[in-house]
Amino acid sequence: VDESEETGSRTVPAACFSRIGSLQPLLRPSLVVLSGSALSLLGLGEQDVLTDPLAPEYLSGSRLLPGSQPAAHCYCGHQFGLFAGQLGDGAVMYLGEVEAGTQGRWEIQVKGAGVTPYSRDGDGRKVLRSSIREFLCSEAMAALGIPSTRAASLVTSDLYVSRDPLNSGRRVQERSSVVLRLAPTFIRFGSFEIFLDRDEFSGLQGPSAGRHDIRAQLLDYVVETFYPHIQQAHSNRKDRNMAFFREVMMRMAKLVAQWQCVGFCHGVLNTDNMSILGLTLDYGPFGFMDRFDPDFVSNASDKRRRYSYQAQPSVCRWNLARLAEALGSELDAAEAGAILDEFMPTYKASYLHIMRKKLGLVRKEEADDSELISDLLRVMYNTGADFTNTFCLLSRVPWPEEGDSERDVVGPVVELILEQCASIEELKVANKPTMENRELAMILSMAQTNPTMFGMVADRPDVAQQLELMGRLKELIETDQDELKKKQHDDWTRWISQYRRRLVRECDGMSDLSLVEKERLRVMNSSNPRVVLRNYIAQNAINAAEKGDFSEVNRVLKVLEKPYSDPEPLYEPASCGDKKHEGRELTV
Ligand code: AMP
Ligand code: MG
Ligand code: MG
Repeated sequence: VDESEETGSRTVPAACFSRIGSLQPLLRPSLVVLSGSALSLLGLGEQDVLTDPLAPEYLSGSRLLPGSQPAAHCYCGHQFGLFAGQLGDGAVMYLGEVEAGTQGRWEIQVKGAGVTPYSRDGDGRKVLRSSIREFLCSEAMAALGIPSTRAASLVTSDLYVSRDPLNSGRRVQERSSVVLRLAPTFIRFGSFEIFLDRDEFSGLQGPSAGRHDIRAQLLDYVVETFYPHIQQAHSNRKDRNMAFFREVMMRMAKLVAQWQCVGFCHGVLNTDNMSILGLTLDYGPFGFMDRFDPDFVSNASDKRRRYSYQAQPSVCRWNLARLAEALGSELDAAEAGAILDEFMPTYKASYLHIMRKKLGLVRKEEADDSELISDLLRVMYNTGADFTNTFCLLSRVPWPEEGDSERDVVGPVVELILEQCASIEELKVANKPTMENRELAMILSMAQTNPTMFGMVADRPDVAQQLELMGRLKELIETDQDELKKKQHDDWTRWISQYRRRLVRECDGMSDLSLVEKERLRVMNSSNPRVVLRNYIAQNAINAAEKGDFSEVNRVLKVLEKPYSDPEPLYEPASCGDKKHEGRELTV
């Protein structure tokens, strides 16, 4: 621990935490929303908080509970593929940890409570829109059963900070707001990167480079405290470390599989946003996709599409390789490589397992099931189908019965699904290349004059994607509208027939078919959320809150808390190619 208590931005060598000497209270803090289920982790009830006039101060880091020791954590990170050196908690304050009966041990943080030694150019503050997004998504993920840090409260205030929310050069005054968040620990991959020696690309090094004594201490703390079963199972330190690394790998593989299966795109998968516990951590420009698109990017500033939906598994693996590097001699390099090689198979098995449940398939048919799923995703992509709603509607595919006419029973479901698919006009908008014409024209002229160089450029994911879009747009424009619609209809009919043939095989050897059917519906309904935090849902809550009306944030929280039993009709997808699609946290 760095004891200097000085807040100005600085390099902090040989320490994992810096103490924060004085608080920077908000002006007239007031409560926006509470999460009852997160508060209960601390042994608190909503009423305890609502009846305490000082609660908004305690919950925003404006006043300290006895025993609290505010600090900021020192970490580094690889940002968009490059080592960035020291980052650290620039807008987050650690307040301490509580153990509250059976609920385990929780670290409490306030996000947006003012500057720390790691704030660099920032003011250490957060605004309503970013806080609402973090609050709602933390709680939505938890309700979906996806490991996540939690958010217990959101407090806003009359302290204003200046921001440029659209990155347009126009600054506005926004209300400084604070989320109180919880996790067993917020230690991340980047926490171990402070020990990194000079990085060959950036030339930077971690502030605690070479301090392998502190690295060992941090690693011991993490394993002993958060992985006690691993600590207990190994008397040999290297073996223990390998078991630890393997478990982190497994947790990440399973986490990213869960993300993929709800269409969640994190948006900023830098190593400093990778929890050492395998939790979803740091909600910025995240997004849940509406229309299925493997190339979906939620972060508008991620021009190279590094953190697209389909890239998430390989990015997580890449990040694990950086963690292994940072752990250095604590691991055996060859063994760590072998563990990394298990990542993709673990991810794929986990993904298939969840996808099977989404389709209500209880039996395993390895090869066939993955083909059934990739065929489904292809049809979804081609027809601009809504990811969340399509899976919900698939539970209406009628159970195959002897002698039923395929056309009569499948037709109505196909119509239902097509109703929430994109129109041809929308698909045209969605398939417009976004890269500037000038740049694309240059690439195409290169293709004519220098095929080798073109090959190199075309391999870039952003360019490849733009070229694919051009091809699709051309086809959409050149093909007759009626013909396109008929093709969409046929594609869905074909896939659903394939799915029904697979359902028949679920019954093999079963005597009571109604039980099989019931089980299929039970599994599907508990695996396919009826509601996710679509960007426009968050944005509507933000717009109301910015006008002083917090009822929508509270209503949305209640809906997100029960994603599998929402009695309301399905939420509409945002129109295809619409900006409403994007995670909207352009600036902090
Ligand atoms: P993020 O993109 O939210 O994961 O943050 C990347 C880095 O920027 C971390 O070191 C944060 O602590 C820091 N940061 C984010 N917002 C602010 C802010 N308002 N003031 C100071 N530092 C910040
Ligand atoms: Mg972060
Ligand atoms: Mg952020």
